[in-house]
Amino acid sequence: MAALSRLFKPQFSSLFQRSLSTTTVSVSEIQPQRDKSSKPLPPITDDPQGSRNFQWVFLGCPGVGKGTYASRLSALLGVPHIATGDLVRDELSSSGPLSHQLEEVVNQGKLVSDEIIFNLLSKRLEAGESKGESGFILDGFPRTIRQAEILDEVTEIDLVVNLKLREDVLIEKCLGRRICSECGKGFNLASINAKAENGDPEITMAPLLPPPQCSSKLITRADDTEPVVRKRLRVYKEQSEPVEDYYRKQGKLTEFNLPGGIPESWPKLLEALHLDDYGDRKSAAA
Ligand code: AMP
Repeated sequence: MAALSRLFKPQFSSLFQRSLSTTTVSVSEIQPQRDKSSKPLPPITDDPQGSRNFQWVFLGCPGVGKGTYASRLSALLGVPHIATGDLVRDELSSSGPLSHQLEEVVNQGKLVSDEIIFNLLSKRLEAGESKGESGFILDGFPRTIRQAEILDEVTEIDLVVNLKLREDVLIEKCLGRRICSECGKGFNLASINAKAENGDPEITMAPLLPPPQCSSKLITRADDTEPVVRKRLRVYKEQSEPVEDYYRKQGKLTEFNLPGGIPESWPKLLEALHLDDYGDRKSAAA
């Protein structure tokens, strides 16, 4: 823990650190606390922006599209999209002190330790805060009950969106995923045409192809190979699925079954979150 306290910076880091050592921390140390007994915020209608910005979490299996939809929503709501998987990959590519340790864990499809994740996350939150960011959409965090409990000790989560997709499609999507090594944009080469079976509806998704300037620079994530994807799905079931139940019991979970690719899913997701006319309402209020 001493090494951890050196790695952590003040504020978020000290809050996370104290929670990691199981000391209870008051939410009011970083922001006004909402009454725990009150019902969770219904999306948007009870706009929290008077006091603070949206604090949302995206859950879902690897490959479901958390990054895609969380980044679209972050642009719409004006809050940062913070993906712990991206923080881990940035650390990996920086060849910093943690990168060796991380590479082995990530490439085996396992979860990184809570200490490392809280360290990366608190650094990211503090860097954002110093640039005037407020609120967040967290993607890929929390991934264990312990992470969720610690997060609850340091701040209040308004809404948790759980994206769902059948497993055969998740695997196809992960294997088709590509990233442009130059601009960092994500694409997907998979053309998905999954027939209805075992109660799952038919699902089609068009590929998301790169523009010509990116197509020669595409790379595949080292953990997007079939054995590692299958392992990550198993790890999700064992360690992350209980987090869905944790938030379900708090009444904060909104489940969303993706009906297809982005063109079909995005408008339906906005509808499910009561955000379909959010842009209009915001400009009317301005
Ligand atoms: P993702 O991009 O969310 O699939 O994350 C890639 C990898 O980063 C995961 O397979 C884990 O090894 C690690 N990782 C990301 N977020 C977390 C987290 N909240 N807790 C533990 N490990 C994480």
